Amino acid sequence: MSICKKTVTETAELLRTRKISADELVKEYFDEIKKKNPDINAYVTICEDEAIKAAEAAQKIMDSNNDVPYLCGIPMTLKDNICTKNIKTTCASKMLEDFLPPYSATVYKKLLDSGTVLLGKLNMDEFAMGNSSEHSIFGAVHNPWNTAFVAGGSSGGSAASVASNLAAFALGSDTGGGIRQPASFCGVVGLKPTYGLVSRYGLIAFASSLEQIGIISKDITDCGIIMNVITGHDPMDSTSIKRPAEDYSEGLGKNIDGIKIALPKELFGSELEKEVGNVINDTLKRLESRGAVLSDCSLPTIENAIHAYYIISSSEASSNLARYDGIRYGHRNERAENISDLYRKSRTEGFGQETKRRILLGTYALSAEHQDELYKKALKVRNIITREFRNAFDEYDIIAAPVSPVTAFKLQENLNNPLKMYLKDVYTVAANLAGLPAVSIPCGKDKKGLPIGIQLIGKPFSEKLLLNVGKQIEMEAGRLEII
Ligand code: GLN
Repeated sequence: MSICKKTVTETAELLRTRKISADELVKEYFDEIKKKNPDINAYVTICEDEAIKAAEAAQKIMDSNNDVPYLCGIPMTLKDNICTKNIKTTCASKMLEDFLPPYSATVYKKLLDSGTVLLGKLNMDEFAMGNSSEHSIFGAVHNPWNTAFVAGGSSGGSAASVASNLAAFALGSDTGGGIRQPASFCGVVGLKPTYGLVSRYGLIAFASSLEQIGIISKDITDCGIIMNVITGHDPMDSTSIKRPAEDYSEGLGKNIDGIKIALPKELFGSELEKEVGNVINDTLKRLESRGAVLSDCSLPTIENAIHAYYIISSSEASSNLARYDGIRYGHRNERAENISDLYRKSRTEGFGQETKRRILLGTYALSAEHQDELYKKALKVRNIITREFRNAFDEYDIIAAPVSPVTAFKLQENLNNPLKMYLKDVYTVAANLAGLPAVSIPCGKDKKGLPIGIQLIGKPFSEKLLLNVGKQIEMEAGRLEII
């Protein structure tokens, strides 16, 4: 079996026992990347020279034998909206095509301090807006299970790279499902942590009140190990939360007797494809046989989550993206005649169609005439949804649902119908509106052989419980591996 198929845990063991050196390992990964990336298009930047140097440094640390961090020498990769000092960070946009960040995101620094090796940066929907990773100046990401299909989005490159063994793990960002949905489409684990648990410093902003950096990994245990590294208070992020550290990898797989799992009827609506619904229901039955207690419930306002999400996220995007004016940094039109011409031409050329659509939608929702009926109303809906979740969690430990009503769709299939595309996010956006942790775990495949993921949503800071129940699902369903 190719070494690149191994999990972080298995690879760390091989490194520790000297079965392979960190530099040999990195070379294996680059061979794999060169072979497969032309078809998958997950990587947009490859850092081969830097990675080889980093691997040699990691090997020295391992040879010195003092205090070797667990992840030392593990090859990983980052979505291209996570700033990496002096390594291009493009957000898959012409606007930032040549952007070399002068600083690194906190999560990247933490991973470097742990001795991991950055292989490169990953394709995505421009500024993380989308659910298919087709809105990218680098072209679409292809699903490694079948390259005629999308990888999901916006962290499509992150999910596709891990699924096709082009990195041991990846980080992505989740604003409304951007980690969970591509993880589900590509058959890997995707965790969006509680809002504030992982620093957003150095994450290029799309919708600041909704998004979180999170993990895409081959299995649940890896996810817990990486959580141990990337969580923690960061004074550079004012929304970062101070709380005692936890060991997310400890006790995974322990008994789930009596764990109360609620199934909101609104997250099993008529849009849910039958095949997906059947696999989810079978998975839930298996959890029941392992001791979980299932109940139906209702979160009535969730039906409006998708509308509130698109209004709030687009409003925040219109404000966050106002900084790209062609002056301070980002794409600049060189033929402008005056300042307003410079703004207009630079933004017209720099942003893609979907990004422009969101900016327009958000500007409209925030305008003096419309903010009461749109933005403010959406905030009220958000509050009610948060309250409904809180009430549900007084009674239940976990809420389970599908990640997406469908499996991966064909490339181009929905590109000309943005509304249809937006509606596919129905099951994921509510967790972001309420700031809750949520994880996607592979649990089966459809007739076309495309992966299906189940979603577990928990109360704030219940990641350990989510991973533990996730582990039970994984033990039943097994890892989905591309042969
Ligand atoms: N699909 C959602 C959107 O288009 C969420 C994307 C994300 O989480 N980055 O906004």
